[in-house]
Amino acid sequence: MKARIRDSGLRCTAARLAVMDHLGSAAGPRTHAEVSEALADLGFDRATIYRNLTELTEKKIVSRVELGDHVWRFEIKRTGGHGAAGEDHPHFLCTTCGEISCLDDVRVAITPKPRRRTTASAGRGARATRIHSVTEVLLKGRCDSCG
Ligand SMILES: [Zn+2]
Ligand SMILES: [Zn+2]
Repeated sequence: MKARIRDSGLRCTAARLAVMDHLGSAAGPRTHAEVSEALADLGFDRATIYRNLTELTEKKIVSRVELGDHVWRFEIKRTGGHGAAGEDHPHFLCTTCGEISCLDDVRVAITPKPRRRTTASAGRGARATRIHSVTEVLLKGRCDSCG
């Protein structure tokens, strides 16, 4: 963790390291509130945590995801793996306990449905095959502990 912080050009402060360690041990992305709560015992206040999360996001060591509830969640950016930066993995939301976890071993492909073209609307058909750029995929169901 220390090396990753230093490699990004940031100083390795106690707060930054605590934030990184917490995100690194989490099973999924964490909200600012969750990180603050977890690190409150160590004496870091919410503003400090927020500033560190923002700095780490700007340095691209941490990525920020929004999973449809208008709450930013933070997670350590994956290195290697598939995709250009390896960070585009789907997330799983347990609808019973609300836990969100990363699905690192799952790949979801969004493929457009083939469109039948008629000669009259060939132009429009071509436009319809444009794929939206998908930034976040969230799967919902029940986690192992909820059965
Ligand atoms: Zn659950
Ligand atoms: Zn994730």
